[in-house]
Amino acid sequence: MVEVREEIEHDIWWQVKSGNSSFWYDNWAKQGALYFIEGELAREEEIEVKEFQSGGDWNINKLLECVSPEMTAHIVENIKPGKESGMIDKAWWMGNSKGVFTAKSTYHSMRRSMNELEWMNQLWLKGLPFKIAFFLWRVWKKRIATDDNLKRMRMQIASKCYCCENGEMETMTHLFLTTPITQKLWRRFASCAGLNIEVLQLQQLIMKWWELKTNQKLHSVLIAVPAIIMWELWKRRNARRHGKETSLNKMYYQCQLNVYYLIKVKFPWLRNIPHTWQGMFHQLLEYRPILHYLAVKWTRLHERCVKCNTDGASKGNLGESAYGFCIRDSSGDLLYA
Ligand SMILES: [Zn+2]
Repeated sequence: MVEVREEIEHDIWWQVKSGNSSFWYDNWAKQGALYFIEGELAREEEIEVKEFQSGGDWNINKLLECVSPEMTAHIVENIKPGKESGMIDKAWWMGNSKGVFTAKSTYHSMRRSMNELEWMNQLWLKGLPFKIAFFLWRVWKKRIATDDNLKRMRMQIASKCYCCENGEMETMTHLFLTTPITQKLWRRFASCAGLNIEVLQLQQLIMKWWELKTNQKLHSVLIAVPAIIMWELWKRRNARRHGKETSLNKMYYQCQLNVYYLIKVKFPWLRNIPHTWQGMFHQLLEYRPILHYLAVKWTRLHERCVKCNTDGASKGNLGESAYGFCIRDSSGDLLYA
């Protein structure tokens, strides 16, 4: 249960009563925690839902200051403001129709997507900033607020993309795969990996990165590249929605920086990591660990003396640890161990 908690937690809905739920971190708007849904707009602050109400209704202006217009519309139309000041917000389990948490319903909802779940475990990329790792998970689950996904949630919106000048309907495929600037960004990373990015679907493209055959170190970085690229595309999309521009070079730079930090976290002993993608790619591709050898010999000692040899190891500081020792006499015979 503890292992699946991170995924399952999003299936708890907090029904607003007095509005004491956390505005950013609890799933009270039925879309998952706003902190993760709202991308760049999200703030790291503890603020309660009731702060966004006034006179028993939603304070639309205040909502608009914090979340996207789409989310504001969703909240105003679908979520009842809290009017019961004496009651704390109520948790409902979304895994079954009764709204009561049971291990059985959790098990069933997890098992139904077992195949998908294996993917999830792999999708959970270690070493990436949590926001980026979680973003990939949301892309995979189609839980980001692109217009095609909002339409699936039956939200009425007039769709227009912000990623290019065409003003097409905003879909995940359009935004993350087919827009010209998107294609250019993918190509910059794919070319030195020898990867052909001409695919029809986003998931196929992600899989292609996962399936590249190479050494383990490089592989563990390559699988993070799609998340890093899509994160920048998402940031650009949100910036453009607010009238700000981001160039291809800036995104490329930012992606490379995130890869750089990832390598630093994963392999802290590596020295002179280049800052360019080509450089990092080749350093990891050609990486060979340097082995140091030292011959150790047991030497005899004076008579009537004993020698104690010891060693120990620990799985990290404060982790599981063990030691051993043996005591020999001057002719090398074991006395005690
Ligand atoms: Zn577009």
